[in-house]
Order: sequence, then C-alpha cells, then structure tokens
Amino acid sequence: MGTYDCTKCPAYCCSYERIIVNKRDVKKLAKHFDLDPEVAAKRFTKTREGEVVLRHQKDKIYGSVCMFLDTKTRRCTIYNARPGVCHEYPEYPTCGYYDFLSWEREQQQDEKFIPLKKG
Ligand code: SF4
Ligand code: SF4
Repeated sequence: MGTYDCTKCPAYCCSYERIIVNKRDVKKLAKHFDLDPEVAAKRFTKTREGEVVLRHQKDKIYGSVCMFLDTKTRRCTIYNARPGVCHEYPEYPTCGYYDFLSWEREQQQDEKFIPLKKG
C-alpha cells in the first residue's frame, strides 16, 4: 500500500459507469464548451438508474470509458472543467486500483502491464 501515481495508470477510475454530475458540473461544462446548459446536459450526460452521469465512449482497455478521456494519452481532456467527483476522487491517500496495478506489474516484472477487466 502506498500513494498512487495517476500518470502511470490508464485511468481506470474514468471507466466507472457512475460518474455523477450535478447542475454546477453541467454549468461548468457548458461554459467550457461555450454551450447552453441544456445543450451541454444533453450532449454530455445521460440518466442512469435515476442519476445524471457522464456519457461514455468505447475503449480498447476497459471496454467503455468517460467520453472526455483521451483514449490514447489516458488523460482527461477537460481537466479544468471536470466534475466535482473527478476532482475529489479517490478521496483517500491511496487508490485500490493503483495498488492492484502496481502489485501485478511487480509480479509480471513489466511496468506497463495492465490487468484487464474480464467480461
Ligand atoms: S484508478 Fe487510481 S491511479 Fe488510476 S487514474 Fe484513477 S485515481 Fe489515479
Ligand atoms: S471528466 Fe475527466 S477525470 Fe472525470 S471521468 Fe471523465 S475523463 Fe475522467
């Protein structure tokens, strides 16, 4: 266990289906893209199980990731306008996925190894 380094991770947390956005987040997105909040809400969000979440795009590594992730560089394309939940995540000084990733990379002796999600 230790701290995490997002620059060495292919952004697993951006593959979560549940990336909740609130009105403030939508306003921030709208401003960033110079759109009306209603247009931004429609274009960038969807309702899933009663919650408003960010839309996804296809991804070679995790199957599906947030539409704002650059799938090549694995970086957020709207870093300064990203929703509050992305800003706060993972809320702890450690990241469970990063621990898993580092452990697997050590076992495989391959610092770029990515254990894949099955199914
Ligand atoms: S899964 Fe953890 S290490 Fe990877 S990008 Fe997200 S917070 Fe960073
Ligand atoms: S907005 Fe950026 S940080 Fe948040 S899930 Fe999407 S790509 Fe990741």
